[in-house]
Amino acid sequence: MRAQPKASHFIAGTWTEDQAGARFDSVFPATGEVVAQLHAATPEVVERAVNAAVAAQKDWAARPPVERGRVLRRAADIIRARNHELSVLETLDTGKPLQETLVADAASGADALEYFGGFAATVTGQTIALGQDMAYTLREPLGVCVGIGAWNYPMQIVCWKAAPALAFGNAMVFKPSELTPLSALALAEILQEAGLPDGVFNVVQGMGDVGAALVRDPRVAKVSLTGSVPTGRKVYAAAAEGIKSATMELGGKSPLIIFEDADLDNAVGAAMLANFYSAGQICSNGTRVFVHHRVKAAFLDKLAARTEAVTMGDPLDEATQIGPMVSERQMAQVLGYIEQGKAEGARMVCGGKREGTTGCFVQPTLFADVTDQMVIAREEIFGPVMAVLDFEDEADVIARANDTEYGLAAGVFTRDISRAHRVVAQLEAGTCWINAYNLTPVEMPFGGVKASGVGRENGHAALEHYTRIKSVYLGLGDVESPY
Ligand code: NAD
Repeated sequence: MRAQPKASHFIAGTWTEDQAGARFDSVFPATGEVVAQLHAATPEVVERAVNAAVAAQKDWAARPPVERGRVLRRAADIIRARNHELSVLETLDTGKPLQETLVADAASGADALEYFGGFAATVTGQTIALGQDMAYTLREPLGVCVGIGAWNYPMQIVCWKAAPALAFGNAMVFKPSELTPLSALALAEILQEAGLPDGVFNVVQGMGDVGAALVRDPRVAKVSLTGSVPTGRKVYAAAAEGIKSATMELGGKSPLIIFEDADLDNAVGAAMLANFYSAGQICSNGTRVFVHHRVKAAFLDKLAARTEAVTMGDPLDEATQIGPMVSERQMAQVLGYIEQGKAEGARMVCGGKREGTTGCFVQPTLFADVTDQMVIAREEIFGPVMAVLDFEDEADVIARANDTEYGLAAGVFTRDISRAHRVVAQLEAGTCWINAYNLTPVEMPFGGVKASGVGRENGHAALEHYTRIKSVYLGLGDVESPY
């Protein structure tokens, strides 16, 4: 199986290779097969990419917004027409089951391009009456933006960053995760086909040092990172050094609270979505499932039965529900956490092992009787490992849910509408769900608080993060000067 791109980088509308850059592979984690070989960007390649973005940005910003939007909407149509091909590419790069990538990855990217394509022409400033004089504001693009991606949703991440950036007149240099380099290149080619001028969207490959070089470049106005908290601290600090705008979409250890009056079948389904979708490799996962003690036994019975019935295997088979971890390293990390859970005395209900000997498969794993101080209840595992904790009291569970450095997401299951809103209002999380979990439509702002990040992607909120305001004072009378 091969998914070799024409070259490693896409700069100024041209496939670009520089064999001097360190070679790295894209591996299909279900089998260990190398599907593509690429080279990391050398400093010369990074320089060319930023030069291309600088050269293209002003002309792009000067185009009528409706024209910019049309290009993005055309790209959305092309993505939808090629959904199957792009989903296979995403599955090969990440190992995520085709059953998911067919509906969740390129599709979500297309939604972002369509949404921000439509949004572009609606952006306006304000007029401010000042008695005799007046002022008005202009919404301007920031300039050259850098996007840096994680490996779990490569196509969605690049589209969630490129769509608002480009819609509002910025240019972008995007660096995908070194584990999943392919779909950003596919997007670059599609945007070109949709009519995007050369240089407005560029892709360079590489490890953290390439991302760091991009963030350091003084011509870069903004950085948007999706990644872990430790990387976020470094990138945010580097952005601060250059007084650059920053959006940080980082990790989480989100609570999902199931009250005694919840619809238990729905709650079980949501808890599984919140822990096993994408083999648990989702930043907003509800990995601390707090279940009211009165429904705990029934919840665990239903959950175990449904978890044991899950189909794990070849992600290219559309019947497969859970695929492998993205890499051997990630698998080893997840298995390490499972061992730690056992050692700390959590009760293993099901799963708990590597599946087979080929590929990076970890069984969906369910721990009950987890307590707040256990490592599996405190650290982001990023694998199919659910921790179920008990609670009795509403105020107590809210305090425990908030007792974490993270604040990305949270969920509440209850039929009591007052309680649902009362609890959500007290949860320290940027994105909350009531009687649902992990749904992230492009219309809704998404992002975290506390160590989980700053800024928001999607929705109207994204405008704030990819534009700046220029205020213009208009003097309409004589200048009153004391001199
Ligand atoms: P990571 O932090 O290891 O890497 C993220 C990206 O940053 C990669 O492209 C990497 O090459 C780059 N990078 C690393 N060091 C850098 C540096 N010093 N300067 C610039 N760039 C640098 O994260 P990962 O392992 O790829 O992804 C998993 C993490 O991402 C998890 O913690 C997960 O929660 C988080 N995540 C968050 C969201 C969100 O929207 N909040 C979404 C997906 C994943």
